[in-house]
Amino acid sequence: MSFGTSLVDSSCPYCGEPVQLVVDEGAQEQDYIEDCQVCCRPMRVSAQLANDGSVELTLRSEDE
Ligand SMILES: [Zn+2]
Repeated sequence: MSFGTSLVDSSCPYCGEPVQLVVDEGAQEQDYIEDCQVCCRPMRVSAQLANDGSVELTLRSEDE
């Protein structure tokens, strides 16, 4: 079994537009900043790996 990356659909906390984020499946937990592809504002991304191997993302605005 090899880890790769997966695309996860979510939505921007600023503009509400759907965005796709690339998540590294090899990391248990990730917390990073990524610019929205639509409005270019910095989103705080928290990624958690679920037991079934899927990735759950939480997006927050940086000033929260
Ligand atoms: Zn946005």
